[in-house]
Amino acid sequence: MLTVLVYRSKKLVDFSELDFHDLNNSAQNKNIKNGITGVLLYDGNYFLQILEGDEEQILKLYHLICMDSRHHNFVKIIETQIPLRYFTNLGMTFFDIREKSRDELISEIKKLNNHIKIEPYYNKILRIIYAFFDNIWRDEISYSKELGEWSDIDVYIGESKISSYHDNLDYKFSVQPIINTSNNKISSYEFLLRTGRGGSPYECFSSLNSDEIYNFDIISKKISLEWASRFIEGNVKISINLLPNTLLKIPNTVEILLKYVKDFNLHPGQIIVEITEEEAISQPEKFTNVIKKLHSFGFGIAIDDFGAGFAGLSLITKFQPEKIKIDRVIVSRIHEDGPRQMIVRSVVNLCRALGIEIVAEGVEQAEEWEWLKSVGIELFQGFLFSKPSNNAMLKIRFPPLDISAVTLF
Ligand code: C2E
Ligand code: MN
Ligand code: MN
Repeated sequence: MLTVLVYRSKKLVDFSELDFHDLNNSAQNKNIKNGITGVLLYDGNYFLQILEGDEEQILKLYHLICMDSRHHNFVKIIETQIPLRYFTNLGMTFFDIREKSRDELISEIKKLNNHIKIEPYYNKILRIIYAFFDNIWRDEISYSKELGEWSDIDVYIGESKISSYHDNLDYKFSVQPIINTSNNKISSYEFLLRTGRGGSPYECFSSLNSDEIYNFDIISKKISLEWASRFIEGNVKISINLLPNTLLKIPNTVEILLKYVKDFNLHPGQIIVEITEEEAISQPEKFTNVIKKLHSFGFGIAIDDFGAGFAGLSLITKFQPEKIKIDRVIVSRIHEDGPRQMIVRSVVNLCRALGIEIVAEGVEQAEEWEWLKSVGIELFQGFLFSKPSNNAMLKIRFPPLDISAVTLF
């Protein structure tokens, strides 16, 4: 299938006019042979390249381009199927956009097309070029490998008690920290359900029938709050997960939770209730009332797995959460993915304006963390920093502190 791929990258070496001449010639021959058309824009620092051709050829070429050591910070902006090529002639046209006004550039780009002015695709290409010209894809993110050493720290947290729900379900909790990398403090601990032998939350729920699940979900919080009360202090928060249906179907969920909180000398203000976005929308009115109740007792609300489901933005207006946790499907390899970068940038803006904290979940790679940090995210959870643990000693890796960064709190 005919495909277009657009990416931007940042130069690593200085390119002279001669280099571009060579680059152009060698690319030209290869591209003609492989049936590739497109354009390469350069602003002295960043490249934006549009590649059109057979899907397989395009992906092969992009793979090779990403291995070229003369540029880095590759961000794929689009990869989509097209009915016709925008660029009429095989090969690649090069533009140094420093020498051009936006209108000059666009009128020259329009000359490279003489057949598809009515296709939606035609204007999409032009709009992306406008966006590049307007600095949208020329962010100033530098990956700071030289910042310094990461430090490994052991924190004593004690251990979860094991409890039994019925004959074939023993359960306990694991804990994973959420850390603030602007000051390397622990922001909160998330309590994750486990079977007595360490199996996943899904394993716990699968041995129960649908009536029991919600009751178990709330009852099990007693064990996590009991553990939390043994080691959590100061401003560090306690994050717990509840199924939306636990809040909807168990009449006194909030009261039960409040009782556990008080029994262990905790305060609702220490607790963040994490709710996934998916199921919550089935009964929005009823659900909003439960959220109101939690808020009125002082519990914090987090929207969990944000970006993985379908309710997304509308939940922010309904729930007025204190926190949003951006799901791993958005976070994973975000440093290379243009659309997800733009989603996160807009979520960061939105949350800043509404006073909502953002946590990036499932961070596994240093580059993901660095990209997310560069757009203003401070709270992180993921294997990169710490894995969920059942051990009394929790291992946390803190990144080097960026002393130039100033934070409010
Ligand atoms: P969640 O609330 O989004 O919790 C984070 C999950 O991501 C955890 O999986 C954790 O082990 C995993 N995780 C953390 N960092 C990374 C990472 O860097 N990479 C990868 N690949 N995974 C990472 P876990 O413990 O299996 O929990 C899965 C889900 O089960 C949770 O997702 C939560 O929605 C649910 N859950 C956990 N405990 C409870 C509970 O007590 N009640 C309810 N209703 N649901 C729970
Ligand atoms: Mn969670
Ligand atoms: Mn999550």
